[in-house]
Amino acid sequence: MGVLSPETTIFTRMSALARQHQALNLGQGFPDEGPPDFLIEAVTRVIQSGFHQYAPMAGVPELREAISKKIFKNYGYRSDPEKEITVTAGGTQALFTAIAALVQPGDEVIIPEPAYDCYAPAVELVGGRCVFVPLNEKTFRPDWNIISSRLTEHTRMIIFNTPHNPSGAVWIEEDYAALSALASQHPFLVLSDEVYEHITFDGRKHIPLCTLPSLENRCLSVYSFGKVFHCTGWKMGYIVGGPRLTEKFRQVHQYNVFSVNTPLQSALAQALENDTWFASLGPYFQRKRDLFISWMQGSKFHIQPARGTYFQLLQYGEITPEDDLAFAERLTQEKKLTLIPVSFFYHRREDHRLLRLCFAKSDDTLRTAAEILCSL
Ligand code: PMP
Ligand code: GLN
Repeated sequence: MGVLSPETTIFTRMSALARQHQALNLGQGFPDEGPPDFLIEAVTRVIQSGFHQYAPMAGVPELREAISKKIFKNYGYRSDPEKEITVTAGGTQALFTAIAALVQPGDEVIIPEPAYDCYAPAVELVGGRCVFVPLNEKTFRPDWNIISSRLTEHTRMIIFNTPHNPSGAVWIEEDYAALSALASQHPFLVLSDEVYEHITFDGRKHIPLCTLPSLENRCLSVYSFGKVFHCTGWKMGYIVGGPRLTEKFRQVHQYNVFSVNTPLQSALAQALENDTWFASLGPYFQRKRDLFISWMQGSKFHIQPARGTYFQLLQYGEITPEDDLAFAERLTQEKKLTLIPVSFFYHRREDHRLLRLCFAKSDDTLRTAAEILCSL
């Protein structure tokens, strides 16, 4: 038997069930609006004026320059577009290629859970061993004592994700300090999934792990244009890290995808000149979170407001003893509302009676969803 689960991912399954039952789909994480006009206009201009052949392997130079400027503007960190930035076909490809480039058979990779679904299969495919550790069950931030206790001479990498899917947790200063302290004691690499970098709430600010001095030359941070420009179907992203790791990454990338969609890269380079867009994302989604939560007043769900991402967890223990998959399927079939059962983010399918709702939806859709949920 192979290392991969023969099951289709829970996101695809729940979206298919939503279509079958014509349910409102607040399951799979995608916004129901498209990219901003300035990006659509840039794509149109670019497509009409050429840019149809292969891009350079590491990415269109103008886009890498623009990404480097964006990183400096947002985080005050200088990255070399030549040696530290590679454009990828989305976050998923960046994560897979990084794991394939850096993990050898027998290496251990620490994965805090709940975790996004594509990390563990990649580690196992390349012969690595996943070491799952629980996130703090209240805050969903790392438990640094547990992580420390699981480091061995075989630990090659730790995969972090902040802002965190599915919980909406966002790292605080303490977490960065704890990671730096741990990094001074052990030479692990860090693969940091930061696709929700700009979606943080209530004044919290994200710090890319690849900018930490303690992780110099030991960290790759992964980003997705799909998440920041409302175009998840474009599958465009990038990965940032020191020259040594970037070189290793590109050794696999060049045989994995070789290069990424040229016209979209050129258009994204132009779109990145828009200075105000990224700062608008936090407030935009915070308003949606707050509206949704205000409409959930009086429901039987327990809700700890998301601190980032566009996902909200809903604890339903007071409503039904059903497991989360059974409840999510019944909600779709009977109430025409689709959410994601969170047990699928645990390798042992631990069921904490949690469903995940994506609030990147129109106000009307959110209100309808809240009405359905309040009626339970
Ligand atoms: N990481 C996390 C935490 C995600 O939620 C997603 C889904 N957007 C990805 C990575 C993959 O990003 P992409 O769609 O760009 O492949
Ligand atoms: N990232 C999206 C989510 O968490 C799903 C992407 C996918 O379907 N693989 O819902």
